Amino acid sequence: MTRETTPLTLTPVGRTVGPKTTYDAPADLPAARPDGRRLLSDRYGRVARDLRVSLTDRCNLRCTYCMPAEGLEWLPTEATLDDDEMIRLITVAVEKLGIRQIRFTGGEPLLRKSLEKIISATKELTTDEGGRVTTAMTTNGMGLARRARKLADAGLDRVNISLDTIDAELYARLTRRDRLQDAIAAIDAAIEAGLTPVKVNAVVMPGINEHAITDLARFTIGRGAQLRFIEQMPLGPRDKWDRSRMITAQDILDELATEFDMTPAAAPRGSAPAALWDVVDATGTGLRGQIGVIASVSHPFCGNCDRSRLTTDGAVRNCLFSSADSETSLRDLMRAGATDDELAEAWAGTMWLKKPGHGIDDEGFLQPDRPMSAIGG
Ligand code: SAM
Ligand code: SF4
Repeated sequence: MTRETTPLTLTPVGRTVGPKTTYDAPADLPAARPDGRRLLSDRYGRVARDLRVSLTDRCNLRCTYCMPAEGLEWLPTEATLDDDEMIRLITVAVEKLGIRQIRFTGGEPLLRKSLEKIISATKELTTDEGGRVTTAMTTNGMGLARRARKLADAGLDRVNISLDTIDAELYARLTRRDRLQDAIAAIDAAIEAGLTPVKVNAVVMPGINEHAITDLARFTIGRGAQLRFIEQMPLGPRDKWDRSRMITAQDILDELATEFDMTPAAAPRGSAPAALWDVVDATGTGLRGQIGVIASVSHPFCGNCDRSRLTTDGAVRNCLFSSADSETSLRDLMRAGATDDELAEAWAGTMWLKKPGHGIDDEGFLQPDRPMSAIGG
């Protein structure tokens, strides 16, 4: 089916990392329903229901697998979405495009002063099922202890807190900041504020924290949080990732099995990236809980992916690994006067072209031009 469309041609505003600033609907993009609603579907039958919103590309830590020590060249403020623009695009995603779950990320989302305002505006929206959007946040936890209650009151449902080690010296080396206690306080405060289940994200790196997998597991479960080990992906400084040396999900499971009895969790996985395991500490502490392993590289779950991404400068991405030229700048369309229906069409058209997989293991794979912190992990 082909439809007549008028291409929107726009002038880039501020620095752009490379998204398209013009939009032409793919010839086979399904038409909107008469009420203007669409789904974020693609040519392989996947439908995006989960939106990752990056609220800033800035950060107060410098995790070695994510950023260089000196940080990155931050986007200028005028290139990023202001609160009204951010809330408008979130509203389009929920009310016109079938998004049901939103995760706020960054950079460090807690650095966005208006975080509570954006969350409460999101919580006022009604999904296509007639309910409220599920809201979550991925954070390094710096300052969360002070803000957890306010965030819960604003409508945040749950958090993932990044913590790769419980060794203070190693934490300082890994994040280049001596702030382990803030991360631990964040976990406790989040549980206390009911932002549950609190999930801890840990990236495992060869020769760095691979020896401390079971310590982190025992600590996290003992604290009442769930743990997710993540395979390191080629998204940070280029010299920090080597496919032949990376710690795989299988390595992580083998290490866990040295001290835990592990059974695959009964609940169906659906589109969740983590394969979940029920674990019992076999060293006699009686600890039991759940651990997830996210094998993004060695066992990609692209076939079940239900995500769309919005960067802090308003580009829609159909994949963590997509190239800059497959992004569309909704910011530029919006600033040139696009209507909500035009924004929804441009968003749907970008998702329609999503590739079947990330292709990390393909010959010719290219790391995305945007760093992880500017995409929103
Ligand atoms: N600053 C927040 C944080 O650290 O939680 C949110 C943004 S951070 C980019 C989101 C998640 O991506 C974190 O859990 C982090 O550990 C993970 N991450 C960053 N770089 C990664 C990489 N190269 N491979 C795998 N995960 C990575
Ligand atoms: Fe910052 Fe998160 Fe990247 Fe660490 S992983 S540098 S906390 S954005």
